[in-house]
Amino acid sequence: MCGLAEVIKYGCIASSRFFKFLEDNIKDLLALEPSVTQKTVRTSCRIKAEVVADDEREAGRRAILNFGHTAGHAIEAVTGYRKYRHGYAVAMGMRVAAELSLIKGGLAGADVNRITELIAKAGLPVTIPGSIRIEALIKAMEHDKKVKSGAIRFALLSGVGRAEIRNNITKSEIREALKRSV
Ligand SMILES: [Zn+2]
Repeated sequence: MCGLAEVIKYGCIASSRFFKFLEDNIKDLLALEPSVTQKTVRTSCRIKAEVVADDEREAGRRAILNFGHTAGHAIEAVTGYRKYRHGYAVAMGMRVAAELSLIKGGLAGADVNRITELIAKAGLPVTIPGSIRIEALIKAMEHDKKVKSGAIRFALLSGVGRAEIRNNITKSEIREALKRSV
């Protein structure tokens, strides 16, 4: 099974119903209750397959699978890929992406709270430790391969279960999202 952070990601980007299922069943999922675990794995795999299939009609669609990964990769990079497991970095990265979605006017504050709460209930971190410098994270994002023509691309949410790729993200908006996530 892919990590819990990736499972929550699938709900965030593609299915409000699955997100609600995770909210309602997170305790059983953490206890690896068989039917909940099976449904979670099956739904995660189906969503991934659907996003990849959609990519053939709408080029670039699969980039929404990077939700939480732009900031997540930066956190991994500035901590030398040793301090945090991938899922932990992605969890923090999803918080940043949710805050950025709010800043860009796509996501309601209540939905940012729902996402943050589900990540926390899953036992994953929702705040970036103070030992990580915000400016170092921004620099790492600029070096990331997803930077095209100077603009930093982000997979953002326009609601729980709805993701879109945004290219017009400024450094000051990213800085604000990171500050809200510490
Ligand atoms: Zn990942």
